[in-house]
Amino acid sequence: MPSVVNDSCIKCGTCASVCPVSAFHVCDTQMVVDPDTCIDCGVCISECPQGAICNDAEADEKWVKFNAEQAKVCPNAND
Ligand code: SF4
Ligand code: SF4
Repeated sequence: MPSVVNDSCIKCGTCASVCPVSAFHVCDTQMVVDPDTCIDCGVCISECPQGAICNDAEADEKWVKFNAEQAKVCPNAND
């Protein structure tokens, strides 16, 4: 179950700094997770100061789709 970011994200960058596989991408209004890259380690969920990240089983389907779609077009946060 990959992690999913919602619109509580303030783009602080903490998640991208702790993700072991560089799964975060930076979009206009928030970060998103590439579900094909995330290895479900869960580290980002506890590190996010906004509580903006959860696993996809707990996320609104709207955000699951948004993360998957936007990760394809937004630049990688670790590039
Ligand atoms: S840690 Fe949370 S608030 Fe900060 S950029 Fe990542 S998802 Fe957004
Ligand atoms: S759960 Fe782990 S691998 Fe997935 S985005 Fe968060 S830190 Fe990266």
